[in-house]
Amino acid sequence: MLNSLLIANRGEIACRIIRTARRLGVRTVAVHSDADARAPHVRMADEAVHIGPSPARESYLVQERILAAAAATGAEAIHPGYGFLSENAGFAEAVQAAGLVWVGAPAASIRAMGLKDAAKQRMIAAQVPVTPGYLGADQSPERLRAEAEAIGWPVLIKAVAGGGGKGMRRVDDPADFAALLESCRREAAASFGDDRVLIEKYILSPRHIEVQVFGDTHGNVVHLFERDCSLQRRHQKVIEEAPAPGMDEATRASICAAAVKAARAVDYVGAGTIEFIADGSAGLRADRIWFMEMNTRLQVEHPVTEAITGQDLVEWQLRVASGEPLPRRQEDLRIRGWAMEARLYAENPATGFLPSTGPLERLRLPRGIRVDSGVEEGGEVTPFYDPMIAKLIVQAETRAAAAARLARAAAKVEVWPVRTNAAFLARAAAHPDFVAGHVDTGFIERHLAALVPAADPSAAVCAAAAAALVPARSGDPWTDLTGFRANAPAERRIALEIAGQPHLVDLDADAPAARAIATDEGRVLFSAGEAWAFGPPRADDVAGGAAASDGAIVAPMPGRIVTVLVADGATVAKGERLVVLEAMKMEQALVAPFNGIVAELKAREGGQVAEGTLLVRIAPADG
Ligand code: ADP
Ligand code: ADP
Ligand code: MG
Repeated sequence: MLNSLLIANRGEIACRIIRTARRLGVRTVAVHSDADARAPHVRMADEAVHIGPSPARESYLVQERILAAAAATGAEAIHPGYGFLSENAGFAEAVQAAGLVWVGAPAASIRAMGLKDAAKQRMIAAQVPVTPGYLGADQSPERLRAEAEAIGWPVLIKAVAGGGGKGMRRVDDPADFAALLESCRREAAASFGDDRVLIEKYILSPRHIEVQVFGDTHGNVVHLFERDCSLQRRHQKVIEEAPAPGMDEATRASICAAAVKAARAVDYVGAGTIEFIADGSAGLRADRIWFMEMNTRLQVEHPVTEAITGQDLVEWQLRVASGEPLPRRQEDLRIRGWAMEARLYAENPATGFLPSTGPLERLRLPRGIRVDSGVEEGGEVTPFYDPMIAKLIVQAETRAAAAARLARAAAKVEVWPVRTNAAFLARAAAHPDFVAGHVDTGFIERHLAALVPAADPSAAVCAAAAAALVPARSGDPWTDLTGFRANAPAERRIALEIAGQPHLVDLDADAPAARAIATDEGRVLFSAGEAWAFGPPRADDVAGGAAASDGAIVAPMPGRIVTVLVADGATVAKGERLVVLEAMKMEQALVAPFNGIVAELKAREGGQVAEGTLLVRIAPADG
């Protein structure tokens, strides 16, 4: 085994690698940028080296800085994690040229699989089925257009050097081809410095099925079964699972064998993933699954494979890099149960998934499941890196049980003030089509309306917020009020503000389970993965704001009713004093928002009231 390891990455993957290294007795070295000076991965490692300013281009992507950090700390090996330099063949060579062990794929394998067109050509030669398409050197728009025509619409234009879904354009209408080609080229040039494209047949009912493969330096290659990563948004994975729903043994054997063949074709060593695209319109069938690309690194979603096989893939990586043979033979690997992973992102589904950055004043992640995270409460989501907060990983005997567990786990997430996709994940995992295994890459787009929480709070959220504003114990003002108006549950309404908007809410004894906390800026309610700022109405709501416009006069803060100046049924004029409340040692008069009559009178002289309690309701005067 290695003695020491430098992790050339950050966030959850750095933490995850450090955990295994530590268990194996390997000394760990973290590297970090300015923004990450106090990040968890820095504190977890035995040593940490500052490698530059916050932008990755000036820190995590600077090869010389990382090599210098390894030299300065006497690290024996470098693990690149995923992203950053993990698939950079030049860096793999530089690491080895510096006399260090590279815990990654061989440079030659990375090169062979780095460009999608060359990789597909190589797979065709190795007799691995590939997605039908055009891989030629002639990049003229006329030729590409003619090839697309020959393939048949719809087609997908992909950047040859692509990754992370960048550049990809689906073309349904031939009339759009030229413009979409142009925009793919622009994005590819900007992202990869290479504007070459390939054309693929767009597979209908597409499912993303991938196979985990592993090679060692003794010529062994095994697979660790498949994952289904069809739940995607804009070609980016959101929920992954293993095994794939609806995969029968014969189909599994066939694609896993194809994956091993693909890995062998590039003399693969270490952890890798062969990605396939499947036409799922008639279930998974071996003759409708095609090679798409290979990722020559550990994958974000590797934990679901670890869960169903009981293996630690980072341990495998470290053993293989140390020259040991693979820890297990193919026949010793089995699938046990079902695993799912959800990527918790700092983004706001309600605003079209805009990234959300800022301090993590509140960060509570579910317990009792595997959570891979690289941030902590009190930390921050910065704009410099990937906005993933954590991966929630669940396992169960059956797929249905795993989905239920994932939905529950996502619903328990509490993050504030950074916005997250937790509620979206909870809804996706609980969606009947997902639970039934009807997944394809269009799932999220198709069900967007059901998955994205509305911009306005639901009745359940309103009820929970109202309940949270009313003290629960007996002897409190609310009990007094119910005593005052027994058998009038419909009138147990309070005014409050949720997400800055006034609401008048019926108090509901069956308010849903939710958790309210107090922050420096006010109260926050967590319910089913959603997070809502709420509180008693502001004074201006009471006097003239929207809440007052429906005539409800509520206590703006907890206090004592000093005087009630009107009687039930009385006619009042706009601005007329109705009730005087003593709160925070000051008297405050609550006035009529418009001309009308006293339709409800709840305030009692001398009574204590909670903030938000309805005191008087004015009904508008006729005309
Ligand atoms: P893919 O979508 O190709 O299967 P992943 O889902 O593992 O790959 O990651 C998506 C892409 O974004 C990959 O190219 C990966 O290397 C990159 N990536 C993912 N997370 C990060 C991160 N935290 N930092 C940098 N790059 C990342
Ligand atoms: P990247 O390198 O950006 O990850 P991939 O080639 O792996 O690109 O494709 C990313 C995603 O795009 C796939 O997971 C799938 O959802 C979709 N996709 C790719 N190729 C096709 C295709 N031929 N037909 C339909 N969908 C596809
Ligand atoms: Mg991919």
